[in-house]
This record gives sequence, structure tokens and C-alpha cells, in this order.
Amino acid sequence: MEKLYEGKAKLVYKTDKDDEIIIRYKDDATAGNGEKKATIQGKGALNLAITTRIFEMLEENGVHTHYIETLNDTDMRAKKVEIFPLEVIIRNISAGSFAKRYGVEEGIVFKEPTFELSYKNDDLGDPLMNEDHAVALGLVTRDQYDEIKKTTLKINDLLKDFFHGIGVTLVDFKIEFGKDKDGNILLADEISPDTCRLWDEKTKEKLDKDIFRRDLGNLTEGYQKVLDRIRG
Ligand code: 5GP
Repeated sequence: MEKLYEGKAKLVYKTDKDDEIIIRYKDDATAGNGEKKATIQGKGALNLAITTRIFEMLEENGVHTHYIETLNDTDMRAKKVEIFPLEVIIRNISAGSFAKRYGVEEGIVFKEPTFELSYKNDDLGDPLMNEDHAVALGLVTRDQYDEIKKTTLKINDLLKDFFHGIGVTLVDFKIEFGKDKDGNILLADEISPDTCRLWDEKTKEKLDKDIFRRDLGNLTEGYQKVLDRIRG
């Protein structure tokens, strides 16, 4: 297959259809904007299996995504989109860079979710960005921003319920959107323990990439727990 793009955690390949791609989930893990790196066997397959179930659930609930089908342990067929260079982040509970930036502890449960944007740009370290800045730089139109925000809040409601159903608290997550050739905005990329903070509701055990970021133990064991619960 002809490679179109290689990111930190995924490879993108061309298909025989102009409007479809194959996304291969890699076992590579990075943190701190690529400063910390490792290869963790099985991580790609776990993320793909979890993303698959979540994208299916979102589609069933009327969220339009790039997902078409999962082909094997590592490969997903998806609609080709032009990714908006924005990391769209929802926080339900304080953690990570929010706790650091504002000097507060992790675990403050917010009355309402916070909606946040970062400019997806590794050279600049993905700086925080507001709506006006994104529009000023031509990254999105005002209407596209409004649609992205509305869809993201709906995704948060669906994901919170989904994870609560398996005894997991959705602390925060990052998603990405893209635009297809007809201008439709689709949820793209992945939703997995690499891109969400997930805490066990009872024990508060971390079941996400913070295991790797903070050297808390075996990452695939945490991700496998999430997948096992999803599969019941
Ligand atoms: P924070 O800003 O606290 O580091 O991250 C907030 C949420 O977005 C976390 O769930 C984190 O996993 C996710 N996130 C933010 N930036 C990135 C990124 O560059 N890569 C990945 N995989 N997740 C991110």
C-alpha cells in the first residue's frame, strides 16, 4: 500500500478509492510532544478495537464519523477528510495541563464541561487557542466552529454515558474533526485511552495514557481492562 502520511501513533495509506484511506494503528507511544518515546506491543490493536466500538456507538447515535470498517487487528478503512489543525478538548474533571496551568489539584468535578481548542502544531507545542484566533487564522469558519462545538458537546454526553455504563469516569478527551470533499464535517482520528483520561469509578485507577506519561505501570493492562469491560 502506498503511504500518504505517518504520524506519531498512526500510518495513513492510499486505497483504490480516491475518497477512502486505510489507517494503521501503531504500537508507538509518545508523550510530552515526542520527548518520551516507546514501542508498546499490542497498544495499536487495543486502541483500534476500542475506537471501533466507540465510533460505532457514536454513529448509532447520529454522530457523523470517518469510520467505515475495521479490517483486522491494526487497520481501519475510513473516509478521507482534510483534518482541521485543531485539537478539540472537553474536560469534565480537572487533570493534566488544566491542573498544571491553573495550579489546582486533579479531580475537581466541573458543574459543566469545558470546551477547549489547541492549535495542532508540534513545532509550537500545540498552543491553546480561542475561537477568534482559529477564525482569524482561517483554520475554521464561524459556522464550522459552531458545528464542531455542538457536536463535541453531544459526543461528550454520549461518551460519559457509555463509559459510566462500564464503571469508568470520563475525565477529559481530545478529538479531531475533518472535512470531506463535499464540505461535511466528520469526527476523525480516534477515541481511545490514548486520547481520553479514564479513571475506574470505584478505585480511581488510571486506565489511560497517563500510565505511560507518568510511569504508573503496565499500559496495555489498563487498556485491556477498558476493552474487556466494553466487550462485557
Ligand atoms: P491535557 O491538555 O490535559 O494534556 O490533555 C487533555 C486531554 O486531551 C487528555 O485526555 C489527553 O489524553 C488528550 N490530549 C491532548 N493533547 C493530546 C495529544 O497531543 N495527543 C493525544 N493522544 N491526546 C491528547
